[in-house]
Amino acid sequence: MLVDGFGRQVSYLRVSVTERCNFRCQYCMPEKPFSWVPKENLLSFEDLFLFIKVAIDEGITKIRITGGEPLLRTDLDNFIRMINAHKSGLDLALTTNGFLLKEAALKLKNAGLKRVNVSLDSLKPEVAARMAQKEVLEKVQAGIAEALHVGLKVKINMVPIKGINADEVLDVLEYAKERGMSIRFIEYMENKFAKEKLQGLSATEVQEIIGARYPFKAIGRQGASPAHLFEMDDGYVFGIIDPHKHDFCEDCNRIRLTAEGMLIPCLYFDEAMSIKDAVQKGDVAGAAEILKEVLRNKPEKNKWSEDEQNETSNRAFYETGG
Ligand code: SAM
Ligand code: SF4
Repeated sequence: MLVDGFGRQVSYLRVSVTERCNFRCQYCMPEKPFSWVPKENLLSFEDLFLFIKVAIDEGITKIRITGGEPLLRTDLDNFIRMINAHKSGLDLALTTNGFLLKEAALKLKNAGLKRVNVSLDSLKPEVAARMAQKEVLEKVQAGIAEALHVGLKVKINMVPIKGINADEVLDVLEYAKERGMSIRFIEYMENKFAKEKLQGLSATEVQEIIGARYPFKAIGRQGASPAHLFEMDDGYVFGIIDPHKHDFCEDCNRIRLTAEGMLIPCLYFDEAMSIKDAVQKGDVAGAAEILKEVLRNKPEKNKWSEDEQNETSNRAFYETGG
């Protein structure tokens, strides 16, 4: 079991396999970064896997593959297969923008993936194109359809931004509900990489929009998940992730690994340690020691909550994996 310096049990590892992305979402990566991390600095799947095995053996039970856009990385299905084969019963999931999902869905399912989160900010082609700064909707919807078709559990993520897609909260909710998918509305998190002057809908505003059409009741959070859940009269449950409320640090159960091998104890916390040397030398004991050291340094609260500008983090979401 992994326990941090504040007694929190850590069981969830998010692994970013690339910072690169084929979208330019206004709230995340509106412009191509000045330079990408050179490909030779990325850890190979074998190296990432060595660390993942250590983490699982130490007590990690849930792993999410993310990015950047994880489906840009070739042979992702083989990576999933390696992880899945190491430990059955692991909660293994993927977060993707869905653009390449149609081609990948069956391979991912056959490799042992059970769940996929797809970011879907709009059902209007021109709005989706404005948000991602690229024509994306048709391919994303085809990806979602294929994922459902092959039997993956699909969850939709939406970030409602005022003046762009905020008027589509109900439409995206209904789209998810009609297809048996769950949905999480994520409050826009201000960060210095995003396009200036974006304003997200608050969790309260999202609740008001949904409540005007569908009565619902709050049913709290599930375990250490940051989403506040709400149940509609017909039993459908939707979630809102409300980072501005700052109430989920106290039972935070997660750590993050970047594609370059930086192990990060908290999304909004700059200190991190590299596992690169250890895994490249095959030093299992060294990797386990770094994992424990990072846990000892996991802060009680994210630094974002102390910063009125909410812009503390020097790491981009596309680097940490969101
Ligand atoms: N490219 C994949 C995708 O878009 O799903 C995975 C990586 S993305 C960084 C992971 C999640 O972070 C997405 O659901 C995205 O909407 C969310 N995200 C990115 N920037 C955000 C921001 N500034 N505020 C809130 N959510 C954000
Ligand atoms: Fe890419 Fe995902 Fe960031 Fe959009 S949110 S730019 S799809 S990493």
